[in-house]
Amino acid sequence: MTKDREPPRADFEQDTLEGKGLVSGDLEKGRWLFAQPCDFLRGATTTDNLPPPGAPEICFAGRSNVGKSSLINALTGRNTLARTSNTPGRTKELNFFTLGPKGYPALMLVDLPGYGYARETRSRVEQWTKLVMSYLRGRVELQRVLVLIDSRHGLKDSDHDVMKLMDEAAVSFQVVLTKIDKLKAGELAKTMDDVRAGVRRHVAAHPTIIATSSEKGTGIAELRAEIALLADTETFRYKSKSE
Ligand code: GDP
Repeated sequence: MTKDREPPRADFEQDTLEGKGLVSGDLEKGRWLFAQPCDFLRGATTTDNLPPPGAPEICFAGRSNVGKSSLINALTGRNTLARTSNTPGRTKELNFFTLGPKGYPALMLVDLPGYGYARETRSRVEQWTKLVMSYLRGRVELQRVLVLIDSRHGLKDSDHDVMKLMDEAAVSFQVVLTKIDKLKAGELAKTMDDVRAGVRRHVAAHPTIIATSSEKGTGIAELRAEIALLADTETFRYKSKSE
């Protein structure tokens, strides 16, 4: 069972948002949003069958096996929402999920196919790049791409290649570290420094990094809050407890 919030690890602190830390109202909004219905809408293998534009979109990207399905399931509190469609040779799809009260989707969550298989053929890499690039370039609703990085492995060449696509498409991306429960005390702060230095090369990078463990629940409340800040608050009918 994923706990809602782990006690903070003694050896690191989550990055704070530019100039303003997350406040408890943000955490509450994130909790509320991710407790709303989340439904699979559609899988798209070409940009011709993308769902019509609607709510703001948040996209999840990462190397295969980075823990993307586990993270989406931990955020939404469901075990079966994100399907692992990353098996080599299988059709690569963009999977769309709606999140928000029935009839008022506050956000669209978009799960990109995993990248970076060691034995990926050139034509498959080209197919991935073509599909993802046309999605990134054509989607005005896209607010941010969360690029997941396995905290044990750090940034790989394939991650930099994908970040370069975001730079070219002028789409803001933010790094989310996964599986931090696998790191020993003291390793995480160094990993965060290394990754921070690595993403600084990319113009489209958001400056803060969120460290998570889907297994332990670490960083999940913070990531929900960060995502909720990008949702359509007008239509999603959220009322804070203080209103
Ligand atoms: P995906 O291919 O990116 O969707 O990755 P999955 O979510 O299927 O996870 C890949 C593997 O990593 C699985 O064996 C998961 O159980 C494991 N995993 C995912 N998240 C975590 C985590 O936070 N901690 C640990 N220890 N293992 C994880």
